[in-house]
Amino acid sequence: MSRYDWMEDARCAQIDPDLWHAEGSGHGYTEAEQICARCPVLQQCADHTARLEGNASKRERHGLWAGQSPRDRLARSGHVTRESKHDVILRLTARGGMDAYEIAKVAEVDVRTVWRVLRNHRDQMRKAA
Ligand code: SF4
Repeated sequence: MSRYDWMEDARCAQIDPDLWHAEGSGHGYTEAEQICARCPVLQQCADHTARLEGNASKRERHGLWAGQSPRDRLARSGHVTRESKHDVILRLTARGGMDAYEIAKVAEVDVRTVWRVLRNHRDQMRKAA
């Protein structure tokens, strides 16, 4: 058994691979994101990509993997401080009783960051459902 066996079940291996490499094509990732959301090896793909890319810069990341654009993956990578602030935002929101401005103050971010984090989180939950 190989550590790459999961790739046999990858949805992107059965469909036009250009959908996952939209750079410069103008068609975006919408269709690929929808396929990734239903892919049975989404988690294995996300783990594999995180290992493969490590702390690479945005320029060194290519294509859509596990439903995540290069920018999405960069945000989840070695940016520990930023990630932990995202965790604080999500935790305080889940606890309730604070508005976005109060959460921004506690997390030491701009209120627009709170709105963006919550919107991204909602999008991820919707995709995972
Ligand atoms: S989750 Fe990964 S393996 Fe599955 S379709 Fe998307 S890019 Fe391919």
